[in-house]
Amino acid sequence: MEVVCQLCQADAITTRYFDDELCWVAECESCSVPMVVWKKHGAFPDPAAVEQMVQRLDEIARLVFGERPFRIDRVMRQIPDHFHAHARPRPTWLQ
Ligand SMILES: [Zn+2]
Ligand SMILES: [Zn+2]
Repeated sequence: MEVVCQLCQADAITTRYFDDELCWVAECESCSVPMVVWKKHGAFPDPAAVEQMVQRLDEIARLVFGERPFRIDRVMRQIPDHFHAHARPRPTWLQ
């Protein structure tokens, strides 16, 4: 069976908040929070690209969460070999 990367595959199907030549931002299907995904398959984009992608995610998350605080989560638990990051709402007791 051919192994298909979920994030590479999602490139064609997910509804986007944002899309450019570097990355896309969409709602994560499993977490239901905004997620930025690098358009190349790999775990280590160069630092400038990472910075740009995190900034995009931050911009979208501000629109999505409004006044609700959130944090950028760069831990890649389920798909460790393809760069992505989530914006997750921050529980109010952590303020
Ligand atoms: Zn997710
Ligand atoms: Zn991939």
